[in-house]
Amino acid sequence: MHSKVVIIGSGPAGLTAALYAARANLEPLVVRGLQPGGLIATTSEVENYPGFVESIGGYELADNMEKQAVRFGTQLLDALIEQVDLSVRPFRLTTDSGDIISAETLIIATGASPRKLGVPGEDALANRGVSYCATCDGFFFRNKRVVVVGGGNSALDESLFLTRYVSELVIVHRRDSLRADPILQERAFSNPKIRFVWDSVVDEIQGSTNVTGVAIRNLKTGETTTHATDGVFPYIGHIPNTWLFAGTLDLDENGYIVADGRTRTQIPGVFAAGDVVDHVYRQAITAAGEGCKAAMEAVWYLAEQEHAQKKAAAAVV
Ligand code: NAP
Repeated sequence: MHSKVVIIGSGPAGLTAALYAARANLEPLVVRGLQPGGLIATTSEVENYPGFVESIGGYELADNMEKQAVRFGTQLLDALIEQVDLSVRPFRLTTDSGDIISAETLIIATGASPRKLGVPGEDALANRGVSYCATCDGFFFRNKRVVVVGGGNSALDESLFLTRYVSELVIVHRRDSLRADPILQERAFSNPKIRFVWDSVVDEIQGSTNVTGVAIRNLKTGETTTHATDGVFPYIGHIPNTWLFAGTLDLDENGYIVADGRTRTQIPGVFAAGDVVDHVYRQAITAAGEGCKAAMEAVWYLAEQEHAQKKAAAAVV
């Protein structure tokens, strides 16, 4: 497989890059990865993506973006990239099934993954009460009790979504004030199903076959209590999906790819966009904007390369 533009990742950054590269007749190849549509596809409702007067479901928004990119000639590949060689031209990517993709330019839009609590019981009870996706799993908690951990927009957004199903929801937050937007705070504080446990962390998730409870420690008093629950939803931020590029591209101290304001990494022809570079804004709209920039940069880069090659050929003649 060979493509002038290969995009790794299919969230708003990757799909917007694909749309722009496709409209430049470059027939980009999008490697969709583990989470087609990216994190936004696991979000219940998106109220702040411009152009949608009413909210739109995260999955539907991602699906629309993909269809729009495909309409202009984007190719999709359901695979994971397991190795990259950016020391050769064209770049060489190896998929999980051993296929080789060669790429004249590469746009990295691999996004970020939910940060884990890192407490006993979390891995053992994953998908047995521990979930990182309220949209995907909320239905299974009908009339049940759940605990959400975190105080950001994700924690509150997804808690509000979960109240459609659950009988009781406790938000455990390590401070006594929230970082979430005021509009979400107002909605959460006025929701009768939501109760807050402040200044506290979850130290353990308990249960043998399914989640039955959590150990909650108050950071001010040091007191630990057991709280009975059927589910735990950690929403404590994200870590960038950059392991593939460690040692090859410059990463910052938190593991995000270092790119300039024009999405260019230190390797010419390699661009990065979306949550994989952005630890500040992390919005679907900013990711989409960066995807657009990355595709335009790839188009200009390819045009420059072509121009240089023609010039060199003319000089030989
Ligand atoms: P976030 O804003 O980084 O919030 C993470 C939360 O988890 C914070 O409240 C943080 O506490 C807490 N936390 C972090 N590490 C923890 C730990 N080890 N143990 C316990 N708690 C911990 O992440 P996010 O909520 O996933 O949001 C990510 C981005 O997406 C943000 O830019 C957000 O605005 C955006 N987003 C927007 C919307 C929307 O606009 N509707 C919806 C979802 C997400 P502290 O507050 O004490 O640091």
